[in-house]
Amino acid sequence: MKKGLFFMFLFMITFVITDLESKPVYADEVIIQVEDLNVRSGPGTNHSRIGQVHKGETYTISKKQGDWIKINWNGKTGWVAEWLTKVNKKETTSSSSYYSKYDYLRIRSAPGLSGSVKGYLMKNARVESQEKNGKWLLIKHGDIKGWVHGDYLAESNDGDSSEEQTDENHQGTPSEVRGEIRVNTSTLNVRSQNSTKGKILTQVRKGQVYEYIDEKDRWYQIKWGNGKTGWVAGWLVEKVDQRKPAPDQSTATYVSLSYNNTNLRSGPSTNNKIVGKGSKGDQFDVIDKEGNWYKIKYNTKEAYVAGWIVEEHTKSNQQKNKDSNSLQGRTIMIDPGHGGYDSGALGRSGSYESLLTLDTAFLVKERLERAGAEVLMTRTENTYVSLSVRSYYSNSSNADAFISLHYNSAPLSISATGINSYYYHAKDQNLALSLQSSLIASTGLRDRGIKKGNFHVIRENTKPAILLELGFLSDAREEQTVKGSTYQNQVSEGITQGLIHYFK
Ligand SMILES: [Zn+2]
Repeated sequence: MKKGLFFMFLFMITFVITDLESKPVYADEVIIQVEDLNVRSGPGTNHSRIGQVHKGETYTISKKQGDWIKINWNGKTGWVAEWLTKVNKKETTSSSSYYSKYDYLRIRSAPGLSGSVKGYLMKNARVESQEKNGKWLLIKHGDIKGWVHGDYLAESNDGDSSEEQTDENHQGTPSEVRGEIRVNTSTLNVRSQNSTKGKILTQVRKGQVYEYIDEKDRWYQIKWGNGKTGWVAGWLVEKVDQRKPAPDQSTATYVSLSYNNTNLRSGPSTNNKIVGKGSKGDQFDVIDKEGNWYKIKYNTKEAYVAGWIVEEHTKSNQQKNKDSNSLQGRTIMIDPGHGGYDSGALGRSGSYESLLTLDTAFLVKERLERAGAEVLMTRTENTYVSLSVRSYYSNSSNADAFISLHYNSAPLSISATGINSYYYHAKDQNLALSLQSSLIASTGLRDRGIKKGNFHVIRENTKPAILLELGFLSDAREEQTVKGSTYQNQVSEGITQGLIHYFK
């Protein structure tokens, strides 16, 4: 909401992202050794502070100059003081090799679901990655450079494959892979035997996924490097759920469209006739899946839609909702803040508030509709809608509640975090309270409480109206959190449960 500071912030950001594309020249990583370490725009304390990193976090090094290290950080680069870090020499090559476990794996422009889709990886396509951001990996595939969710990639042990084969020959029978584990702690020792007495062979990092070939006394024997094996403590890893549906497998019971103007066709290929069009967020029940196409119910007929331009929703998702009719008969107006040339706050890694609020709004809409509500939106595209038009929509509708969605920013206090809910009219305090508490319960973010806020869309509103600030884009870590699909789903759940509670 704080537009005054926006341009100063924009200036700071453009400063940082100018060498977004620079590749790490060092294979080494740096581990932060102090609680909060300033990231600066250049190699020295005289350069402006552009963010903070925290103890135990690991970043790849792109450059060194004097006592300063340039790190790759949230898709950007910045400088940190070397003496407050520990440089970790990597034993292996500078990049790790992966392959896609699924067809049509989305490559996005940014590490998160809000990144636009730039292309796809087909099953077994091999890619290299030198940079990670949470679970997302920066990869290059042909001419496309972008981010892929690490859960859908498998680490490839190719490296020096002749060595691997020799090893296996010596062992006689190749060991059978029994599953995969994901490292759950920032640094994890791989040992020569299944106890802490075993010699440390190497270290693996948080988020990395390895195949394991044996399991003994809560230890897993994993494959790493060139066909080598070693043991890791089972309580510091999580098993990767093999049954978890791939983004393009056919467990979906309904799909929602990711884009406006989506073609619906008479058959499962782009050669088939277009029988209709759908808009972003439209939902269709799935009858069947043929290849990468969904056969869907369309009006009273059937149609096909390409699997890579929809979001799939599974049965288990649906069954979670025991409250299927709790909002029956209620009309909720959702107001995605900002839009068009008014982009709202700008996140530290470049996310726009205006786009994020729209993404959130569609998810909230979908969730509320599953609870039986009718949902109206003040905008459904990235267009500018004035504040008076928004309150006019609300006042002339039959809405039972009006909820304005925003993300916060505090460029001069970059560590500000959390959620708050604003009301203007005293009668709306209960609505704010109800949503605030269920949002905190569902997301676990810091509780900034409810406040009276003099905002046009709620002040000029005759319906019960509140404005939600759903987290700070100016805090690097919180920005990553709020962009993630987990958080977005938690917000949708929180708003829905809050409304159910309010109407009770
Ligand atoms: Zn805003």
